Amino acid sequence: MLDCYDIAEKLQLTSKLMELHDGNAFKIKALANGAFRLSKMHIAPEDFTEEKLALQEGVGKSLSKTIVEIAHKGTSAELDGLIEKTPAGVIEMLSVKGIGPKKVKQLWHELQVESPGELLYACYENRLVDLKGFGQKTQQSIKQSIEFMQSASGKVHYAAVEELADNFLEELKELQYVSNISLTGDIYRKCETLSSIDILVAADEVFENEFKSPIPVNLIFTTDEEFYYELVKTSSTKEHLEYINFASLTDHSFGSEEEVYESLKQPYFIAEWRDGLFDKEIHAHYPTHLIEEKDLKGILHNHSTYSDGANTLAEMAGYCKELGYEYFGIADHSKSAVYANGLKEDRILLQHKEIDELNKKLAPFKILKGTECDILYDGSLDYSNEVLATFDYVVTSIHQHFKMDEDKASERLIKAIENPYTTILGHPTGRLLLGRPGYPVNHKKIIDACAANNVVIELNAHPYRLDIDWRWIPYCMEKGVKISINPDAHEKQGFHDMHFGTCVARKGLLTKDFCFNALSLEEIENLLKLKK
Ligand SMILES: [Zn+2]
Ligand SMILES: [Zn+2]
Repeated sequence: MLDCYDIAEKLQLTSKLMELHDGNAFKIKALANGAFRLSKMHIAPEDFTEEKLALQEGVGKSLSKTIVEIAHKGTSAELDGLIEKTPAGVIEMLSVKGIGPKKVKQLWHELQVESPGELLYACYENRLVDLKGFGQKTQQSIKQSIEFMQSASGKVHYAAVEELADNFLEELKELQYVSNISLTGDIYRKCETLSSIDILVAADEVFENEFKSPIPVNLIFTTDEEFYYELVKTSSTKEHLEYINFASLTDHSFGSEEEVYESLKQPYFIAEWRDGLFDKEIHAHYPTHLIEEKDLKGILHNHSTYSDGANTLAEMAGYCKELGYEYFGIADHSKSAVYANGLKEDRILLQHKEIDELNKKLAPFKILKGTECDILYDGSLDYSNEVLATFDYVVTSIHQHFKMDEDKASERLIKAIENPYTTILGHPTGRLLLGRPGYPVNHKKIIDACAANNVVIELNAHPYRLDIDWRWIPYCMEKGVKISINPDAHEKQGFHDMHFGTCVARKGLLTKDFCFNALSLEEIENLLKLKK
């Protein structure tokens, strides 16, 4: 049987859900008040009868009935009904600190946000700033409380701890008795989400250290002599160790990781490749020019204040140039993305005019005219062909109506891929890591369609997306499909996410030849003209 506190929570939830669904205001208040009173009461579970409850102050007849029902069944018919018509993620949003049912309702209906993970991403896209009753401050506090909720669940995005982990290394290096040190485990392999930070330490003595970290920090101790042997061992999956026949090593003393592989008569597997997924492929065709950040010549998927970005077009382009890139592609949202202030046709003209003027000033650096055009429910694009023809390139993405089965999702995407104006397929599954799974996609079919229609696939570099999943990159390359590493930047600082995209691109063996935005401005312009 439940106690007062549990029952109070259920009453509270009933009240919140009723508010979410525009229930009777009087009843909503009565339930919330009842929950509050009950949470302060000490009634033994056997005393949950309507007669005894009626003796309690502030508990009326109808509330007593509900309490008895919940005490005995753990729930009420009314609560069940409300839960049934509310997406599970929306219910979860009710527990985000700082937002009540009224705001959750607004987020759900006006922004189509249906889970804390989606809400967090909406904060990154600045979508709460212009929402009535919200604002920059509320957005910031919501962001912090969801980040806290997520880390409490035991997993974080790689990006959340990369710098922190490096700081730990620097700190430990200073210790006298530490002779060698490295990250190891999942973080060394640059896995997209992490549940611990593993650090291999060669030291004369075992020690403990206090770390301020959202996930556990594990120190693994070894000797200086066996350091590289242990580093390969602790940074590899079981499958990879089996593939390289690691157990056959009798001598454990090496001067580098390369030496370990050498003595196994294997090519050198960088840490990112030790997942054990593409061992055979790497062995057969060793990637000759694996993509590096310095190979990237331009940034193609970005937003400005024309749609839902935080910086102006001039600020974004200026900063991109400052970072040393040759070109900047704007790709603001299209007209159906009303929540993101998508561009109607007249505003596209304005933007193109501004681009022409900026390009005179910024040359030889160049702003390319792009759009992130919504893929509508039937797979058609949000702009007419005449409008699409005015852009240098078109990123097509799904932003609404995520609930699809695999057939529907694939059909919708393939129709968009087959549109002759599609240059790049944006975030192909819509997933948000630790936030929501993507819609189910038949990756092979999608990649085959891109190959047949000469469409580039985006590797969305935002650390929450990293979509297309890097595990599909080898298949893309096999089919001749190029990958564009795009930050989907909604502010200047977003450009730096290119780093996280490159990390996983390397896990997926992406070579420079297959990276679309490793092309120079001249090369990419020629290609885009050819496509037209
Ligand atoms: Zn998008
Ligand atoms: Zn975007």
